[in-house]
Amino acid sequence: MTARILVVDDIPANVRLLEVRLLAEYFEVLTASNGLDAIETCENGKVDVVLLDVMMPDIDGFEVCKRLKSDPATSHIPVVMITALDQVSDRVRGLEAGADDFLTKPVNDLQLMTRVKSLVRLKSLTDELRLRASTTRNIGIEALLSRSFTSEDATPKVLLIDERKSSFERIQKMLRGSAELDIATDPHAGFFQAAEAPYECVLISTGFADFDPLRLCSQLRSLDRTRFLPIILLAEEGEEGRIIRGLELGINDYLMRPIDQQELMARLRTQVRRKRYNDQLRASVTQTIEMAVTDGLTGLHNRRYLDSHLQTLFDRAVARRRPLSVMITDLDRFKTVNDAHGHDGGDDVLREFARRLRKNVRGIDLACRFGGEEFVVVMPDTDGAVAEKVAERIRAEIAQLPFTIGQEGKTIEVTVSVGVSSVLNGADTVAALMKRADVALYEAKSGGRNRVVAKAA
Ligand code: GH3
Ligand code: MG
Ligand code: MG
Repeated sequence: MTARILVVDDIPANVRLLEVRLLAEYFEVLTASNGLDAIETCENGKVDVVLLDVMMPDIDGFEVCKRLKSDPATSHIPVVMITALDQVSDRVRGLEAGADDFLTKPVNDLQLMTRVKSLVRLKSLTDELRLRASTTRNIGIEALLSRSFTSEDATPKVLLIDERKSSFERIQKMLRGSAELDIATDPHAGFFQAAEAPYECVLISTGFADFDPLRLCSQLRSLDRTRFLPIILLAEEGEEGRIIRGLELGINDYLMRPIDQQELMARLRTQVRRKRYNDQLRASVTQTIEMAVTDGLTGLHNRRYLDSHLQTLFDRAVARRRPLSVMITDLDRFKTVNDAHGHDGGDDVLREFARRLRKNVRGIDLACRFGGEEFVVVMPDTDGAVAEKVAERIRAEIAQLPFTIGQEGKTIEVTVSVGVSSVLNGADTVAALMKRADVALYEAKSGGRNRVVAKAA
């Protein structure tokens, strides 16, 4: 994992100290000796994490952090504040400025590396999502994300897995009012609970009498439902080895006992804020992808989706020597429907046709609106004879039941013509398969419409 770390401190010796340690872990290091240079570097370069000294002349670390976090171009870059004193007031000010993490001078090696690595991992996930979101959607990423801050203040839903009463009661008291906390005292039950409810963070205590808490971490990471659920480990003094292994397994952060309330709240808040940000990006990517492959009028897949999937289905059928058929349907004299009942009436017919089509094909069949009043259904594991029967069933269902259009419940007769073709052994191609279905459709039209024509081999 290589990443670019920006070290900001007005004292050259401090910069050098951190630089040497980061270089030893193969990070790339950039440096700045004042706040304005730091901001400029973040705006220009690809900075993955900023290590920011609090006390600097001119603009101090809090102000630098505030400016980075308020600019959409840099707000996603994790900032770790480095405070000279372990002062609660500094942490609160850092939190208000939007810092993602804190380290206290002199900086402990384990803390430095674990915080940096965990933030780098989160950053690379965010980067990938940002990239996907901005390339699949034309509007800018900033516009997309400006919405994410609306949910910022909602109380986070948190699960604590801890079997020691004295410990969980103390944490419960610390988080009262700032989190909606559930407690699981049994690690196995806690695992299922984490997967079933929409938690935004899970706190896992290392103090089980006879259970390895890292097993729980690895289980949570391997389950789809909890893969992105932030995990904070509550460890004991002297458990550095366990923390390092935990970070390798994908825990997001840790706290050492005795737990400091301010620190717990800060770390929890950071994890929840990042999760919400990433969830928002992920949802937007998913929605964009769905929009891009769905036909707005009928809700069926569109031609773009067909084009990208038909080849795959075709190759799979050929490789497994399984049959595959396609049908192309085209509504008969559809222009006259539009002419007589308007475009809206025509749209009603298309929607109802799509509904009947979907009802008559299997879940594994791929039904798409090919364009206009033409639809295509791809049927895996289906030979020509069966496909012809399916097509005939659809044709009959369209012809037998009149279509209702408009608000007044007017009904009209609609018919459809269908061409069917199937994959041939030997040198067949997707283009040839579609061409045969198209020729069959043309024959159905010229043969009088309201009929199915199947192209035998
Ligand atoms: P046939 O297929 O039986 O030969 O006759 P047709 O009248 O259906 O033929 P053609 O393919 O020439 O016309 C299709 C019509 O479908 C033309 C177009 O106005 C209409 N159409 C295409 N897309 C839509 C749509 O989204 N909504 C509506 N209402 N009409 C559409
Ligand atoms: Mg047509
Ligand atoms: Mg037509």
